[in-house]
Amino acid sequence: MTVRTHADSLKWVEHGTGLLVTQVALLDEESIARPSMLPGWTRKHLVAHVAANADALGNLVHWARTGERTPMYSSADQRGADIESGARLSVTELVAWLNVSVHKLGVAVDALTGEQWRTEVVTAQGRNVPATEIPWLRAREVCVHAVDLGTGTTFADLPDEFLAALITDIRGKRGIDEVPGGPLPEVAAYLAGRPHSLADVPDLGAWL
Ligand code: ZN
Repeated sequence: MTVRTHADSLKWVEHGTGLLVTQVALLDEESIARPSMLPGWTRKHLVAHVAANADALGNLVHWARTGERTPMYSSADQRGADIESGARLSVTELVAWLNVSVHKLGVAVDALTGEQWRTEVVTAQGRNVPATEIPWLRAREVCVHAVDLGTGTTFADLPDEFLAALITDIRGKRGIDEVPGGPLPEVAAYLAGRPHSLADVPDLGAWL
């Protein structure tokens, strides 16, 4: 069992955001319109989702700072509609949205005080968590979706400590007692429902 710290999560957000933003900056109108590694989503859908997720987590940071109840998304329908409309933006508009959303979330997170970090907020899945969980939620998104972009980043590019924490997290969510043996990045990819090289393991289906 891996214990992740708040400082770890903040570090992984930076790592994953760096990977993602660097890869997205290399895409042009044609390459960003190609399929991502997530079924049914182009890279545009994926970038729109990651930008919208930063805005949504910004709502939770606002909640932690002010005590005013501001959920991540107004509804599941709204969440889907924002991704669809985001996917119709030009590459320039989409990259600008991503960069602004990343910057705004970073500024908001940096401004939280110790007490505000302990405020309880509710995730999109309806879980009550302290605000310190927000960077972990974001780290998962940026690190795993940097791989999903399909531009060459793999789970092996993610820090081992992050992969170990991810495995612990997904095991808990999926209720898996026994994890198959194998290289850490492959086990993490398998549990996350992503392409992997493990042999003779049951299909787990999608996650995140
Ligand atoms: Zn996601």
